[in-house]
Amino acid sequence: MFRDLQPDLSAASWAVRFAASQKGVLMVLSGMSNIEQLRDNISYMIDFVPLNEAELSVVHRAAGIIHESVEIQCTACRYCVEGCPKNIAIPEYFSLYNEEKRSNPGGGFSVQQSYFANYAMLRGKPSDCIECGACEDACPQKLPIIELLKKVSGVFEK
Ligand code: SF4
Ligand code: SF4
Repeated sequence: MFRDLQPDLSAASWAVRFAASQKGVLMVLSGMSNIEQLRDNISYMIDFVPLNEAELSVVHRAAGIIHESVEIQCTACRYCVEGCPKNIAIPEYFSLYNEEKRSNPGGGFSVQQSYFANYAMLRGKPSDCIECGACEDACPQKLPIIELLKKVSGVFEK
């Protein structure tokens, strides 16, 4: 959808331009890890044009598709991980849970279960959570991580 409308714009550009188009926003911070990403950011921010109505409509359609297909809205930013006293692989478990729900609703054997078993051997299991709340304080998405880990446990640790 994005490429149909703006074939030359990068995926990241849509996110940065969306943020910069909000009323009252004076500055957008963008994580970059190489010179190409820096050049890409500069290419559309040096002479910034806010999203027009057609572009905003595509963004909202894409957001709707993502929300419908992903049960746990974790962005894998990993801010929750470092402070967990039980070393629980929170974003990895959420990702496996989403994939399990999407691709294996019947609950038969799946590759997600193998990945889960590997993580659970090396890291804390969802059921190891002591509900200290450190992860929820750190989560920019304000996810109810403690409750969500119980759902993950119900699927993979039963
Ligand atoms: S609430 Fe659970 S998952 Fe979150 S930091 Fe504490 S032990 Fe880790
Ligand atoms: S802090 Fe929240 S959004 Fe980020 S990885 Fe952890 S659960 Fe996911």
